[in-house]
Amino acid sequence: MKKRLQMNFLAIAAVSILTVLLLTSIVLYNLFQEEVMENLQVCAYVLETDVENVEMLEQAMQNIKRKNDIRVTIIDPQGNVLSDSKVESHDLENHQNRPEVQGAIEKGEGKAIRTSSTLSKASFYYAVKMKSGNILRLSKESQSFLSFLIQISPFISGIAIILFFVCMLLSRLLARSIVRPIETLACNMGSGKPVTTYKELTPFITTIQEQHEDIVKSSQMRQEFTANVSHELKTPLTSISGYSELIENGMAKGEDAVRFAGEIHTNANRLLTLINDILQLSELDDRDFSDDFTMVNVSEIIDKCVELLTLNAKKHDVSLVTQEVPEKVMVKGSPKMLEELIYNLIDNGIRYNKEKGTVYIRVEEQEHTVQLRVVDTGIGISKEHQERIFERFYRVDKSRSKATGGTGLGLAIVKHIVVCHKATIEVHSKEGEGTELVVTFQKTDD
Ligand code: ADP
Repeated sequence: MKKRLQMNFLAIAAVSILTVLLLTSIVLYNLFQEEVMENLQVCAYVLETDVENVEMLEQAMQNIKRKNDIRVTIIDPQGNVLSDSKVESHDLENHQNRPEVQGAIEKGEGKAIRTSSTLSKASFYYAVKMKSGNILRLSKESQSFLSFLIQISPFISGIAIILFFVCMLLSRLLARSIVRPIETLACNMGSGKPVTTYKELTPFITTIQEQHEDIVKSSQMRQEFTANVSHELKTPLTSISGYSELIENGMAKGEDAVRFAGEIHTNANRLLTLINDILQLSELDDRDFSDDFTMVNVSEIIDKCVELLTLNAKKHDVSLVTQEVPEKVMVKGSPKMLEELIYNLIDNGIRYNKEKGTVYIRVEEQEHTVQLRVVDTGIGISKEHQERIFERFYRVDKSRSKATGGTGLGLAIVKHIVVCHKATIEVHSKEGEGTELVVTFQKTDD
């Protein structure tokens, strides 16, 4: 970027230098033209007042010719050349059509500049009408613009080169001063230090820093998740390895063998559930499900989940009660995901319940929303844990969670599904009394 900025600055500087020098040359040449014309005018004035007749004029012309290269021509009002200081007058054609002569005849004076065919010379003409009616014309051959340019070119090139080097130095300093804050920003990105740059960059820096923080945070979360997953997988695998080793060494006899096999079975199931939850979370992380959304009847899904969990509820001596659930409550979403959500909430209601407890499932349909409530009469969650239960692998009572087949991922999956459906979830709970989880879906028109 620095090189490109520098090259751009230099290109602009080069074009500007050349333009300025060219314009200056034009102005200088114009001044030079005016100067030559003024000289001719003064000479003509002197000649016109001093010279009364042609003889005197001839004498004056000889003097001028000797002193400088001004050519004097006397022309009669019809354009015939009466006398010329350089060429024999009868060799010259009629001059009536020459612009300077015409000007002098019509307005008393005329001027003209003519460039030679090779463009190397320019002739300056000044003509004035004398008292006698004849025209006095003075001309001087001088430099054309091209030869003027060629003459001053060493000087111009010198200035151009010096200016170009100065611009090169300045452009390097300028490019460096523009790029330096960006380089400082790049170096200090992760350090959290405040970076002072120009104000135009502030929104850009804020966005980049926010994105950087997000990336760092998400990478930390991934690292944490990977560490947690490894740890969670290790425990059941260690048990399986230990029990199977005992069986292998012939140390499991009779009832022990059955117990060990049971432990292996339980831990293998734990592993399966854990892997299942992890896969589900990573699928939710990676895929946008909104394309698969259809209109889903929540009541049907509740019935299905209750049916699937009835045995489990019996095992825990907990009753499942669906209350005020209309036959048809439509929500836009993924049937598979909504089943997972409702299943997890009822399952938690059973697992964290007390003996002879109840789990109530309610659905309330309002004008713009559909609210699903899963209420249990269980152990409840204290205030400080309520905010964290949706984090991956967060468990209030680890041993109870494990004993009931929990992975610590159920509510993380629920939260993910809720976000996917642009819904919200709230927890109302009192320790020892029970918990209520409320999911609010927005109704859509289709
Ligand atoms: P787990 O697999 O451990 O149940 P979840 O993500 O489903 O993991 O829940 C996280 C934690 O939140 C649980 O370990 C439990 O401590 C607490 N929890 C969830 N639901 C309830 C509930 N209905 N009553 C009491 N505690 C609950």
